[in-house]
Amino acid sequence: MATVSNNKKSKQSATGTHKRTGSSPAKSLCSKPSLINAPVPDTRAQKRFAKNVLAWFEQHGRKNLPWQHNATPYRVWVSEIMLQQTQVATVIPYYAAFMKRFGSIQALAEAPQDDVLAHWSGLGYYARARNLHRCAIDVVQQHGGTMPSNLDELIALPGIGRSTAGAIASLSMGKPEPILDGNVKRVLARAYGVEGWPGQKKVLDALWQISEAVTPKTNTGQFNQAMMDLGATLCTRSKPDCTRCPLAKTCFALEHNSIADYPGKKPKKVTPVKQTVMLVIKDKQGRLLLHKRPATGIWGGLWSLPEIADAAEVQTWLSEQPLKAVSDPQQIDAFRHTFSHYHLDITVLEQMVASTAQRVADDAAAHWYDGGKLPGGVAKPVTQILALLKL
Ligand code: SF4
Repeated sequence: MATVSNNKKSKQSATGTHKRTGSSPAKSLCSKPSLINAPVPDTRAQKRFAKNVLAWFEQHGRKNLPWQHNATPYRVWVSEIMLQQTQVATVIPYYAAFMKRFGSIQALAEAPQDDVLAHWSGLGYYARARNLHRCAIDVVQQHGGTMPSNLDELIALPGIGRSTAGAIASLSMGKPEPILDGNVKRVLARAYGVEGWPGQKKVLDALWQISEAVTPKTNTGQFNQAMMDLGATLCTRSKPDCTRCPLAKTCFALEHNSIADYPGKKPKKVTPVKQTVMLVIKDKQGRLLLHKRPATGIWGGLWSLPEIADAAEVQTWLSEQPLKAVSDPQQIDAFRHTFSHYHLDITVLEQMVASTAQRVADDAAAHWYDGGKLPGGVAKPVTQILALLKL
């Protein structure tokens, strides 16, 4: 364990940039200041870093993940998109089902969006699935069905950022491209004491600078996989297992007993709260009305319940369909659903209606659900409400 004490005030300037105090093993790794004065490792340190990480990977790295077998650009790409914001254990069954149904870029490109979203149901962040589908169509139309091998062309595709492009290129094509996903950001921020929230451009640029420096030109795929594994299994958000870490001897945060400070937290702001009323519209046959949401925006392209802003608007909404109420609306549930940028307080009203209006029945964005197969992907709160209704 490191013994050098940490004096945070002395190593932080008013702008949050980084100044080191005292001697530390991490300091000895650095040759020039990065964009935010965090160190960029010199050539010797780069080699040592890569060697330690690769040696650790050889013994402890994950080598049997489903997407590591037959690691084609398509399979790696789908895994990378699923793994954004989602843990490996959660992804594995979704990945298996997705690959079974959409075994190739062509199969994905030809599938209806509803089918793609249905296979994504429960994973959240549905823009990922819509972009994946859009991207498959673009690859077929613009690249003859083969993922481009050029990094810029990969980045130009929907939903593929620089780190995902680097992962596809290195893991499936053997290209010497660095990555910087959430796990790697955490490892590098701690190992090199990069201060500040990685959502800030200058912090992100500094982390990229370090990632470029430490990523070897050979065995890049293994190295990148090792860095992701390190972040996922040892350098975890809380309680990292530094005793088993191959970077422990030179890790700045460990040396300075300041692991919790890295990476820097997102500046706090109050999360707004919005309200909505979801309507459980039931007809005489016990069927329930689902609406398909617009292609873009929250839950874009998913099936959901009709929504109104306020419970007092039920009658107006019914008359617009038109649907005839046979009882008063009843509140059957109320809960909060939290998105990354706001809370949504949902009140659930059940309303029995007399018959299915022809206009509603003919509407392609409407579906009378009888408890059988869902017409496509559904928003998570709707899954919760369907479970409450035992449907
Ligand atoms: S020594 Fe600890 S904090 Fe530093 S990189 Fe390894 S696990 Fe993370």
